[in-house]
Amino acid sequence: MQNKMTDEIDRDARIVICGAGGFIGGSLARYFHDRGFTRIRAIDKKPIPEWYQRVPGVECLCLNLSDEGNCRRACEGAVEVYNLAANMGGMGFIERFRIECLRSILINTHLIESAYQAGAKRYFYASSACAYNTELQKVTEVRALKESDAYPAMAERGYGWEKLMSEMFCQEYWAERGFKTWIARFHNVYGPNGTWDGGREKAPAAICRKVIQAKDEGIGQIEIWGDGTQTRSFMYIDDCTKGIDRIMHCDDLVATPINLGSSELISVNELVAFAEKIAGVRLEHTYNLNAPQGVAGRNSDNTMIKKILGWEPDTPFSAGLAKTYAWIQQQYEQRKAGLRTVE
Ligand code: NAD
Repeated sequence: MQNKMTDEIDRDARIVICGAGGFIGGSLARYFHDRGFTRIRAIDKKPIPEWYQRVPGVECLCLNLSDEGNCRRACEGAVEVYNLAANMGGMGFIERFRIECLRSILINTHLIESAYQAGAKRYFYASSACAYNTELQKVTEVRALKESDAYPAMAERGYGWEKLMSEMFCQEYWAERGFKTWIARFHNVYGPNGTWDGGREKAPAAICRKVIQAKDEGIGQIEIWGDGTQTRSFMYIDDCTKGIDRIMHCDDLVATPINLGSSELISVNELVAFAEKIAGVRLEHTYNLNAPQGVAGRNSDNTMIKKILGWEPDTPFSAGLAKTYAWIQQQYEQRKAGLRTVE
């Protein structure tokens, strides 16, 4: 096992984080900044004032990375490149905007070539559990997905197929050109500084927001998408950034897709119960069976990550949700007061 983490990496090496105006990319920029990295370049297509996090001392560039010239600019002098840029959201977004999701292929296609041409040493690609065969996710008491379950391929239409194709690019750059790439399949990431309203938010943030609003407005009820029995695992953001670092700096994992997710399986009904407990309320639930709900069940099999890294994401859901709830509450109050929020 060879796992350096950033402790042994040159802190003056240029690290390029793409999608840094968003949730995970922004948190990753902060993670490396807090570990003393001095030359972080953060990139996103969103105008800089709209980024979820702006980390002091980090070079911020507003570039659309679907454009090859912009990818070349992004990768100038890069030692490590992290691709977390994609057009994405919760089920409400990825079931409705499949073309937009598929078009993210342009980002990875141009970025990996530019990183290779720039002589970068390491390239990271953020894949997703949506790359897994959907046939294996039709029941709520689901068998956890292991890395080999992506093939034979029957990924989530649009978003999942783009992830699978981009993974293949990463693997072939290593096989054909000896360019070192790493691929992590994230399972639902949640936490502070993520999308919490506006249509792209995922279940934990959406449920926290609905509970906060119901409590604030004295509505006494919330709507749940689906029948509430669908199951998922949810990874807290701090586990995600730590996991990206560990995976990217493990030479045993070159060009090898690996799960990065929690193995604590939670149903949507349980998620609601957790949020109500934090809020100190009991609400009436209405179930919208016509709303997008994705696969019936999905969990992360962490055998491989535990074997190779001796670690797995381990923040208990109840602890991570409490922090997320507190942050969304703060955002909710800021918005009511007419102040700027992350959405
Ligand atoms: P996010 O939407 O918060 O961040 C993605 C960022 O990419 C956004 O700020 C967006 O503006 C930017 N972007 C989109 N197109 C771009 C372009 N052409 N050029 C430059 N920037 C562009 O999403 P996130 O939750 O931070 O996800 C990061 C990555 O992790 C994505 O690849 C996503 O598919 C993957 N992922 C996330 C989850 C999750 O639960 N959040 C799960 C699985 C995989």
